[in-house]
Amino acid sequence: MRLQLLVIIGSMLLLLTPGCTTARPDFVPVVLKRTQMQMGTLVTITSVAPDRQRAQDAATAAFQEVRRLEGLLSTWMVTSELSRVNAAAGKEAIALSVDTMKVLESSLEMARLTEGGFNILVGPAVDAWNVVDGQQIPSDAVLQAVRPLTDLRSLHLNALAGTAYLAKAGMRVDVGGIGKGFAADMAVAAMQKAGATAGVVALSGDIRTFGRLPNGVKFPFGIRHPRHEEAVLAFIDLQDEAISTAGDYERYFEREGVRYHHILDPVSLRPARDCQSVTVVARDGLTADGLDTGIFVMGRERGLALIERLPGVGVVIVDRDGKVWISSYLKGRVRMNDALE
Ligand code: ADP
Ligand code: MG
Repeated sequence: MRLQLLVIIGSMLLLLTPGCTTARPDFVPVVLKRTQMQMGTLVTITSVAPDRQRAQDAATAAFQEVRRLEGLLSTWMVTSELSRVNAAAGKEAIALSVDTMKVLESSLEMARLTEGGFNILVGPAVDAWNVVDGQQIPSDAVLQAVRPLTDLRSLHLNALAGTAYLAKAGMRVDVGGIGKGFAADMAVAAMQKAGATAGVVALSGDIRTFGRLPNGVKFPFGIRHPRHEEAVLAFIDLQDEAISTAGDYERYFEREGVRYHHILDPVSLRPARDCQSVTVVARDGLTADGLDTGIFVMGRERGLALIERLPGVGVVIVDRDGKVWISSYLKGRVRMNDALE
């Protein structure tokens, strides 16, 4: 099959799909691709359906679903549920929708799984680093001052009442490390409901697929090389699975040869040091996205050990020295790019 590089999704993963199918009504399903900015990132939908109208409707439904979730989860929008939880920190509990509650409960579960590596309360520390604009290295004193705000025991979820409460003023929930994977799952459900037979929802490097391409081929992806821009490290094909990458090359600055990036180790409140990139494959996006960030923090050894215990989950880790580690679930499925030197 002739593969054509159509779209670069974020700079984490590449979706490699064949050129447009010629429309032969009744025989060949339609494949279409649409892109929008949502959740502060490039969202690309690939929609496969028996006819163009259904393919369009499914893509539209997916975008609408991501937009709806953005309205619940975004911490940039002051009206979102999470913004209201954050504004009420130290004051009162806030009622949540089922979806927001699910993301928060899953985040706590992810924190348990990754032994604290994944922590949705690191926001105040992320701000102290301000990796995107400020490029400042915060003092120990500054980091110690925000530490109490990152204690997950101070996030109280009441499943019965459907509320969330942050016990200390200044605490902040930030689901940047898991929300896009959840949105991808929900958008896929919306596409299926709208009649799509297969598709891909990609929020930058957080991607969920379902079904196969019309020619029976699985959706092919390239895992980006963490140190060679535009180069593909390895290839993998997916069907009914999610893939998600956390890397130190997306948002970072360098000082005296040290790279400071946006994934913090909740123990040190400094950028996690052991990996260059972590790519997780799982059955759902929530798991893949939550785990990529958490494993990145845990590091190669503990991260691989955790993944080996989880059924239906695999990982490709590029460690700090550039060495590639592939878990048993993905051995034989990941093809290294021989074209690389
Ligand atoms: P992205 O695709 O935006 O790079 P990642 O899945 O790599 O997302 O998660 C990074 C984001 O998660 C950061 O921008 C920050 O908001 C948040 N974050 C940073 N460190 C952690 C952590 N240890 N646990 C959970 N979230 C984190
Ligand atoms: Mg993540």
